[in-house]
Amino acid sequence: MKELVKVLGASGSKTKSTGTISLQIDEHILIDAGNIFQKYEKDTNEIEHVFISHSHFDHILELPFLIENGFTTRTKQLHIYGLKDTIENIKTFMFNNHIWPDFSLIPLLTTGEKSIVFNEIDYYQTIDLGTLTIMPFPANHIVPTAGFVVEKGEEAFILSSDTYITYELWRIANENKKIKHILVEVSFESALDGLAEVSKHLTPHLLDEELNKLHRDDVGVHIYHIKESSYAQISKELKEYPNLVKFNVDVLPEVL
Ligand SMILES: [Zn+2]
Ligand SMILES: [Zn+2]
Repeated sequence: MKELVKVLGASGSKTKSTGTISLQIDEHILIDAGNIFQKYEKDTNEIEHVFISHSHFDHILELPFLIENGFTTRTKQLHIYGLKDTIENIKTFMFNNHIWPDFSLIPLLTTGEKSIVFNEIDYYQTIDLGTLTIMPFPANHIVPTAGFVVEKGEEAFILSSDTYITYELWRIANENKKIKHILVEVSFESALDGLAEVSKHLTPHLLDEELNKLHRDDVGVHIYHIKESSYAQISKELKEYPNLVKFNVDVLPEVL
């Protein structure tokens, strides 16, 4: 079976041994740019499309180096996709000539085309990239945030992105039978439900309640975006909450 997703980074923390969020969904296409270089196996100049779920730093931090490394030999434009708010923040606070050059104004040396192209996307807009389609939908986080449905042929997965209690994730997962895997964020252990509420993230306890909205038993449910300091406790709690046991929830493996 063709792989649906390869994990380049899936942690909620950047430490000696963990990198933040980046998923390779095709040789040329990524979701989020938290951790590319450690795991991407080819020349990163092959990366042409990056979908950014939201503007938080753990999801965008390697974007400056993605365009800068190998710049003199890059032949393909780098397309960055995000909601209006996400693109505005990346332009205003990152590629603003103060923190990093505005590469959307700098031409590639090889072709003369602008090196970065920013693309604003809307919720429920399906983008067809030939080998796959990707559709953003609303998550419930402290800034406008897109989850994504990625379809490749007859198979699909859904990614929650950073979220608190939500309905769209589960509604779409129930309706779209192509979806075989649900990747859902769990950031903190259940004792930190209060912190999860103010920062709009999930815990095993909250995911246990969320799973009452899932009316399928033929999907894999995988958690990611775990904060390193909560990792051991969350692993323990996966075996304690009834819905987490019922749905056989695991930590997202490196390849799906
Ligand atoms: Zn976030
Ligand atoms: Zn995050």
